[in-house]
Amino acid sequence: MDINKYNVCNSPIEERIFQNQKIYIKRDDLLNPKFSGNKARKFYYFILKEFSDIRKVISYGSNQSNAMYSLSVLAKAKGWEFEYYVNHISSYLKANPIGNYKYAIENGMKLIIQKEKPKREKLEDKHTLFIEEGGRDKNARFGVKILAQEIKLWQQAEGIKDLNIFLPSGTGTTALFLQKSLFEFDSRFQAKVYTVPCIGDALYLKLQFIMLENNILKHPTVVKPKKKYQFGKLYRESYEIWKRLKNEMGIEFDMLYDPIGWLTLIENPKILKKPLLYIHQGGLIGNESMLERYKRKYD
Ligand SMILES: *Cc1c(COP(=O)(O)O)cnc(C)c1O
Repeated sequence: MDINKYNVCNSPIEERIFQNQKIYIKRDDLLNPKFSGNKARKFYYFILKEFSDIRKVISYGSNQSNAMYSLSVLAKAKGWEFEYYVNHISSYLKANPIGNYKYAIENGMKLIIQKEKPKREKLEDKHTLFIEEGGRDKNARFGVKILAQEIKLWQQAEGIKDLNIFLPSGTGTTALFLQKSLFEFDSRFQAKVYTVPCIGDALYLKLQFIMLENNILKHPTVVKPKKKYQFGKLYRESYEIWKRLKNEMGIEFDMLYDPIGWLTLIENPKILKKPLLYIHQGGLIGNESMLERYKRKYD
């Protein structure tokens, strides 16, 4: 396999003005058109490492998940089978494939529809890799650490002694390993990671962190949105902020996590008192299906 094709190193950091405020954006959406965003960081370990015995990868989750699509790219690159469990799929999506689902199927994903969550103990073996929903895996640390290194080097080059970092969370794996790695590097340059839960509440997110790191001093700082958002549901203000970001910054963000991220950031101006780096975690293939839903509802 040509791993250079999937090299995830060094995405650019760009400067933008938003609401009269300078903000830096880490463009992980630009890593690679096929394999990008935080899923590329989280699965980088699996791309690089040789797994001579593995023949198949199994995972589960929603039928439009970004992690599902990225695993289909990984499996294809490695020549593995890819089995993905969902608890349902609409006949409409089956007949009209779009977004992550469409491209994952094109990459050879085998979809298994089953009410219960598949069990790791039953499915994992010498030839089968089992990855938890959304790529919550301790090996994600490897790729996220490279992201942290890139940020630290940039911070030193720019002479930014005290940096705030913001990114929205699903499983919280990216935010956790980012903060943990940043603590391990040059402490004269501080970087504090803020995140907002987009799936579940703050308590759920903190429990997710604990599953990966039990020292809470190494955890990111969790900020809550004022309103309770249900993951995957459409909100007018989410659509509005997404369009505003696109117009004012010239950057397309993801439509599931980033609107909640930016709305929460605006509600917490204290985070913007220091130089701020927002991590663009990709997910743009998922926008294909989200945008269709948003247009149908609000345009
Ligand atoms: C998966 C994903 C997230 C959530 O990442 P976690 O590591 O699970 O917190 C955030 N934004 C985008 C665009 C994603 O695809």
